[in-house]
Amino acid sequence: RKIGIDAGGTLIKLASMDERGSLELRKVPVREMSAIAAWLNGEEDARIVVTGGRSAQLKAQMNKDVPDMAEFMATMRGASYLLREQAFGADAYVLTNVGTGTSIHRVEPEGHARIGGTGVGGGTLMGLSRLLTGIADFETIVASAKSGTRGSVDLKVSDIYAGSEPPIPGELTASNFAKLFLREHMDDIAQEDLIASVMGLVGETVATTSVLAAGQNGISNIVYIGSSFIRNEPLRDVVRAYTVLRGGVPYFPDNGEYCGAIGALLSG
Ligand code: ATP
Ligand code: MG
Repeated sequence: RKIGIDAGGTLIKLASMDERGSLELRKVPVREMSAIAAWLNGEEDARIVVTGGRSAQLKAQMNKDVPDMAEFMATMRGASYLLREQAFGADAYVLTNVGTGTSIHRVEPEGHARIGGTGVGGGTLMGLSRLLTGIADFETIVASAKSGTRGSVDLKVSDIYAGSEPPIPGELTASNFAKLFLREHMDDIAQEDLIASVMGLVGETVATTSVLAAGQNGISNIVYIGSSFIRNEPLRDVVRAYTVLRGGVPYFPDNGEYCGAIGALLSG
């Protein structure tokens, strides 16, 4: 049996494959790291490879030496496996991993490289949502974003150019959260609207950064992965729409949050 572990800033992702080649995937919060270490210690015959920023912390809790793999290498390897499985045609694409933070890579047949990133990511979604509303549960945040609207929080280009033809699409956000400054009162803003706007801020930043990175490299396909997208239609919707609006072609592979764990498993 082969096991790949991606210990990230927020979640530990596990991929395991038995002799018949069937793949099993699961994730646990980093606070359960010691339970994972204990489980791995009991896996006598498994070939284990770890990756991710917290892999050294995980290894320190294990009673045997296991190999580790560079995070970006594992992510690339897992992504190309998943994309092949899912019959994604392009051989050159930008890969954007929206984890706790966001990391952007260029992947081409000749090789791959990290080409940028932004501190605006899934952790920002969690932290800012909590600051603004007190809600700290991912699924509740996603559900809130679904029922909220951004019109009373975010300023669109069409709001500024009201009554005239704007030089860029009116649907673009001119300034995230700007209406909270421009309007007279703030007391009637719903929590759901604030969270929907945080989702917008994160999604638009991630998409804009990715499309600019793609353009610099003469690429149009952008593959989005990371746990931030798990059953998170509001974030996917913003990222998809903004990527298209800015001339990119977005793709969200199934199980994209497991790229690192799968890449580690495959190298074991
Ligand atoms: P990094 O790669 O930046 O070190 P990571 O690998 O832990 O971090 P991911 O697991 O890809 O990052 O994504 C973490 C994000 O996924 C969180 O910030 C949050 O937005 C979202 N998320 C999805 N499910 C959960 C959950 N059950 N608990 C907490 N966050 C979740
Ligand atoms: Mg990660």
